[in-house]
Amino acid sequence: MRHRSSGVSLISKESLKQRLDKDKIIDGDHWLWAGACDKDSTGYGVIRIDGKKFGVHRISAFAYLGLDLNDHDQHALHKPECHNRLCFNPEHLYIGTNADNRQDRADIIRASSHYPCGHPRTIENSIKSDPPRCLVCHNKRCNDFYHKRTTTTRVIKTREEIIEEEYFRLKEEDENR
Ligand SMILES: [Zn+2]
Ligand SMILES: [Zn+2]
Repeated sequence: MRHRSSGVSLISKESLKQRLDKDKIIDGDHWLWAGACDKDSTGYGVIRIDGKKFGVHRISAFAYLGLDLNDHDQHALHKPECHNRLCFNPEHLYIGTNADNRQDRADIIRASSHYPCGHPRTIENSIKSDPPRCLVCHNKRCNDFYHKRTTTTRVIKTREEIIEEEYFRLKEEDENR
């Protein structure tokens, strides 16, 4: 069975390359996209082809690397040495799977100095997880969640600490019964 191919597949790769070239700013060995950017602020360049919106890095990976635009398990990912979402130099891209995509996002968080929430990504402000998470936001979520259940002070505690306290409190209640 033939799956429906997107209109892009019908446009020659050469003409797509020429289109990308029109909005290309060379910055060192990066090719930065000078055209439109994603409104959802993912930071990727976007291009309209046949009325459909595509990530510029995806179109570049299609035209230069042979990415299959109809295969949703194929992602155009930036190599660690680039990680500039506006860059579409095919030498800075590779084709990865869904798993690679998750790993890639984890790597970006690990490599940046701030979490997406804007809080600093320091050892003091991190939860040991993979990828690490923001402690301030984690505490806020936990405090909101446990607010009604705990009579404790407003000292910021980790979820584990709150659960542990709760456990000992219940145990004590049991013993005093
Ligand atoms: Zn680059
Ligand atoms: Zn945060």
